[in-house]
Amino acid sequence: MNHSEAVLYLLDAGPLALTTDFDGTVSEIAPTPELATLHPRCRDSLAKLSEELPLVAVVSGRRVEDVRQLVGLPGVVYLGNHGLERWENGTTYVEPSASEQFLVIRSILEEARVELNMRGLLFEEKGTGASIHYRSTSNPSAARTQITSLLSELVKGKGIKVVEGRRVVELRPASDTDKGTALIELLCRYDVGGAIYAGDDRTDLDAFAGIHRWAGQEGRRAVTVGVISAEMPPELAEQADVTVDGVEGWADLLDALADAMHAGSAR
Ligand SMILES: [Mg+2]
Repeated sequence: MNHSEAVLYLLDAGPLALTTDFDGTVSEIAPTPELATLHPRCRDSLAKLSEELPLVAVVSGRRVEDVRQLVGLPGVVYLGNHGLERWENGTTYVEPSASEQFLVIRSILEEARVELNMRGLLFEEKGTGASIHYRSTSNPSAARTQITSLLSELVKGKGIKVVEGRRVVELRPASDTDKGTALIELLCRYDVGGAIYAGDDRTDLDAFAGIHRWAGQEGRRAVTVGVISAEMPPELAEQADVTVDGVEGWADLLDALADAMHAGSAR
C-alpha cells in the first residue's frame, strides 16, 4: 500500500481515529528525553485532525502527564506508560494493579542505580514504570548488555518485566496491558470505522497487532505505519502496512490525511 492508497482506504472507512506514538514518530529522538519536542508540522496536522475526527490519541511509553505537556493539544486523548495511564477529557486514569507495583519498580531502579556504575546513564522514574536510557554512554551496545542482564536478575519473582526500546531498557508491571490492548479499549468506546497508528519502536508492534485485532470485525479498517530509522527493530517494517521515512515522512502523511479529511468534510 502506498501513501495515497492508504489515505483513500481510510477515507472510505467512515469516521476515523488517528493514533500515534510520540518519540521517534512525531518528535525526533533527542539526546535526553526532556529535550524532545513535537515536530511543528505534526503539531499543525494533529491540531487540525483533532477538530475534524472523533478521536486523536497519542500513545507513549512516557508518563501520561509528560506526553500531554509535550503535545499540549487539549482535544487529544493521551495514553502513557504504554497504556497503563490515560488522560481523557481532563481526567487521568491509572491501571490499579500498576500503581500497586510502583514501590517494587522504584526499589529495583535504585538497586540498578547502585550496581551500574557507568557514565552517561539516565535513570527515569515514571510512576507506573521506570526507564534506564543508555543513548549517552560511550559504548551503548556494552551498556545494553550490562543493563539487561542485571535487570533480568533483579526482577526475578517480583511481577515486573523488562522491555527494550530505542537505546532504553524499561521496567514495567507484568500486566497484560500494552499499547495494543489500551488502543482496543479506547477505539471500542468511540464511534469510528477506521484507525491508523504510527510508531517507530518495538512496543509499537503491540499497537499494530491491537488495531488489526480491533479491525478484524464489522468491516472496520486499520492501517499501521512504520516510521523507518537506523535504530528500528527489523520487524517494524515487516509488520507495517505502510512505511514512512522518519518523522518527516510521517509529517507528510499526516498533512495528506488532514488535507483529505478537510476536503471530505467541505464536500
Ligand atoms: Mg517511539
